[in-house]
Amino acid sequence: MTTSVDSFADLGLSQSLLKTLAEIGYETPSPIQAQCIPLLREGHDIIGMAQTGTGKTAAFALPLMESIDAKLMKPQALILTPTRELAIQVAEALQSYARNLPGFHVLPIYGGQSYTIQLKQLARGAHVVVGTPGRVMDHLERQTLNLDHLKTLVLDEADEMLRMGFIDDVEWILEHTPEQHQTALFSATMPEPIRRVAQKYLVEPKEVRIKSATATVAAIRQVYWQVSGLHKLDALTRILEVEDDFDAAIIFVRTKTATVELADKLAARGYAAAALNGDLNQQMRERVIEQLKSGALDIVIATDVAARGIDVSRISHVVNYDIPYDTEAYVHRIGRTGRAGRAGNAILFVAPREIRMLRTIERATRQPIAPLTLPSRADVTNKRVAAFKEKVAEVLGAEGLDFFANIVSQIAEEQDVSAEEIAAALAMMAQEGKPLQIAGEDPASHANSRPAFRDDRRPPGFAERENKPRSDNRGERPRFEGRDNQPRFEPRGERPRFEDKPRRPPASGDMVRYRIDVGRDHGVQVKDIVGAIANEAGIDSRFIGRIGLYDESSTVELPAGMPPEAANALKRTRVRGVPINLRPDDGRPDVHPNTGGERKFKKKPFADR
Ligand code: AMP
Repeated sequence: MTTSVDSFADLGLSQSLLKTLAEIGYETPSPIQAQCIPLLREGHDIIGMAQTGTGKTAAFALPLMESIDAKLMKPQALILTPTRELAIQVAEALQSYARNLPGFHVLPIYGGQSYTIQLKQLARGAHVVVGTPGRVMDHLERQTLNLDHLKTLVLDEADEMLRMGFIDDVEWILEHTPEQHQTALFSATMPEPIRRVAQKYLVEPKEVRIKSATATVAAIRQVYWQVSGLHKLDALTRILEVEDDFDAAIIFVRTKTATVELADKLAARGYAAAALNGDLNQQMRERVIEQLKSGALDIVIATDVAARGIDVSRISHVVNYDIPYDTEAYVHRIGRTGRAGRAGNAILFVAPREIRMLRTIERATRQPIAPLTLPSRADVTNKRVAAFKEKVAEVLGAEGLDFFANIVSQIAEEQDVSAEEIAAALAMMAQEGKPLQIAGEDPASHANSRPAFRDDRRPPGFAERENKPRSDNRGERPRFEGRDNQPRFEPRGERPRFEDKPRRPPASGDMVRYRIDVGRDHGVQVKDIVGAIANEAGIDSRFIGRIGLYDESSTVELPAGMPPEAANALKRTRVRGVPINLRPDDGRPDVHPNTGGERKFKKKPFADR
């Protein structure tokens, strides 16, 4: 770990928050928390260079919650996030930290949600508002969101907001907030425009970054599985079952609660597993480690702190069930395997949003981590059958078979069946409760020849809607038609205005041009279209090709082969309150597909971002 702070109590947090953290099982502050919390408590502005997985949410959420006056039902903190998913996730995190703060209220507001609901919620009041820039700006313009009592402003994933074209909105919001407040800016990277914003709007900010010291981990086979399609627990048991040289494993999770839960679940599936966490006293801890050494236990589920210094040579596998906070923790964790000259295996589970952390780890360890193809049901069955055959072969060589052979002959005669049929019946009896086949359907395998967090079945660019990734897509990209290409059709001699902000063009793959029913007359800008489509279709904004803005409609190029659920979502999407009615561009921009007549749009006052 990059920090020597071992306890949240050392960070000056109140008893009620400390109680909550203990209840939800946080043992120690993550490095980013250890550095940010005291600075924010002291009132500094901060720039936090941190990505998802580092624990950055709690790093800003806990101190800002300490500064809230619960009796004052007015927004005292505003958190800006690039997407609605993140807004909801951050709001949920705050709500969970507020379990012992009665009356604490956090409100997520984002584009796509009805204004009526949001206006009602805003009128009711909230201590913290978490929102996407466009929608927050609309509410500020409309004066339905009042920031007169603002104490803290957080810009979460600032580089993502930049990438999605929201930086002007963010600056607008910064211009329209009262001067006296603390600002915390979090960003995984520091591109120039973000630095400029920080220089302009933050006051003597303290910079916080987590170390990513390089380290060698040469002898260990490192693989990762991108979490999707299958529950982590099911994936874990499948992987453990087919790993060839499995002897014993240490599985790392983040919270004490998770160590116990996972140990129970694995034990229920027949594994000799136990939890190792900071709640165990020294004697109990030593006992667990002894049991692992002796073979009484095969799997130990541990937190980072509890597993410090474990030296058990039979640990063949380390599983990072939850991704570590930083590269140093990763190196410590995987150092538990490959000991005493034995081979070691490190398996990392990576959620789509954590891909950036995976890349950071690769850079720090100077080694690529290979994608792991999840074993299929057939793989598991084959493995179980092979083990079964081996067991049978062993027994065939054992003494005392004659007695049973005699019984088999009797059954064959009495039942008039073959020895094979009897053997099959016996095999079935032997495997009762331990099926050789797994029931259910196989999820798509994620061999990751594509960008790591993409679903293999999807064309490049489309994410699963549940797990909308937004960052760090370094795989192949759809082809982008030259920026200078004229649109195939220009309605009524009117020249479209193409996006003026350069986005990185996709490099490969076919693009399809679509027509949407919003244009310049609706006050729509390119960023509105990008934001709405990125959010609704789960498509990374850099896969969105050229956008042509006309008066009453626009064109947008998207990767070919859009999955039906994304197409459906886009049919319902609204931009500036107008349904976009996305459809392949037939070159008839302003003719309604149903009526064939000219369309008139009713302008709505607010952007739907
Ligand atoms: P974040 O990087 O903020 O998205 O956090 C990633 C995950 O780490 C979330 O599931 C948090 O609940 C969890 N987490 C954050 N801080 C801690 C901590 N100190 N101990 C255990 N888990 C944590």
